[in-house]
Amino acid sequence: MTRTAPDSCPGVLRLHQAADGPLARIRVPGGYLTPEQVLVLATAARELGDGAIELTSRGNIQLRQVRDAAELTARVTAAGLLPSRTHERVRNIVASPLSGRVGGLADVRGLIGDLDARLCATTRLAELPGRVLFTLDDGRGDVSPLGGDIGVHAVGPEEFALLLAGTDTGVRVTGGETVDILLAAAAGFLEVSSGQWRLHEIADGPARIIESLGLTPGPERVEILADQNIPIGWLNQDDGLVALGAGVRLGALDARVAEFVAAVERPVIVTPWRSLVIADLDEWAAEQVVRVLAPMGLIFDAASPWLHVSACAGQPGCAKSLTDVRADVTAAVESGRVLPEASAETAREQIVPAEDVTVAGRQHWSGCDRRCGRPRGDVTDVVATPDGYRVD
Ligand code: SF4
Repeated sequence: MTRTAPDSCPGVLRLHQAADGPLARIRVPGGYLTPEQVLVLATAARELGDGAIELTSRGNIQLRQVRDAAELTARVTAAGLLPSRTHERVRNIVASPLSGRVGGLADVRGLIGDLDARLCATTRLAELPGRVLFTLDDGRGDVSPLGGDIGVHAVGPEEFALLLAGTDTGVRVTGGETVDILLAAAAGFLEVSSGQWRLHEIADGPARIIESLGLTPGPERVEILADQNIPIGWLNQDDGLVALGAGVRLGALDARVAEFVAAVERPVIVTPWRSLVIADLDEWAAEQVVRVLAPMGLIFDAASPWLHVSACAGQPGCAKSLTDVRADVTAAVESGRVLPEASAETAREQIVPAEDVTVAGRQHWSGCDRRCGRPRGDVTDVVATPDGYRVD
């Protein structure tokens, strides 16, 4: 597939003109935010946006209805969230959110900052399409299935498999070689690309990159399996502290709740499942966080039906939407029509009114057939039509 236009991914410096107003996307490599940065984003959402912080499926942040782009740019720059004006839209790095704290074969936290800094320092790589995604999986298999373009997957504490277009190439590198090889592969993407946005769109793209880098694949392959285990609730860290996985309804974090999260004064990780991890708590503090933030809407219960549902922007944010998808899915959750387990009883390929949609298990609601933001894997589609919703 050859694209005829450059990708139009938004950033802070180039806003997307959504139907409900300008939208800014702020890259957060690895999803890592300091409490101070969370507070800056919360304040910006309240004073310059629509009052919510949207979490994206790449662990980034979006603000909607941005009223003063120059002021937002100044604030995120001062907070260290815009370290490069030339490379802002290519800093798409997801990493295992619990790495170095809970399980995993390797600790990839150091790779995030190193990859980000050297990516931004490589002039040519500013030309990467904003769709290209880097993945750093610590071996637990949580982010490798996300369909990244260029990534590594730990196969031991100091050994990584090179993934291209989401598949193990058979190439193995040491921890010290990892960032070099990722950057070389990114440069290789530009060499073999003729306008495509993603590596899987380029015929024989991974093989051509491997050849251009002079790498020799070995016989072993890691099987990349879909993994939907969102870290939710109480998670004992390897160092004796506690991390809390917190679900966020439809990935929209109210600025007021975010201010409370910032006040906890602990690292916050935005996950690619549109949730948060609040890390490095002692037990007493973790109990207080759950006590205060659960009633405010953060989800610490892995059985919550909110964790089964995702939705596109819908009306009023998207002009293509046939309906207010988020209001419809909220009504479905609150009236008990989102059932806990996938079951054969879910009626499929029927058009039903919004108030009658009843679906079991993981489901993604969309305002039109484009199905933006649909998670990968086994997910039931609930798609708006002019006559109601179709369950696919
Ligand atoms: S799925 Fe359709 S309605 Fe929803 S955000 Fe995408 S284009 Fe808009």
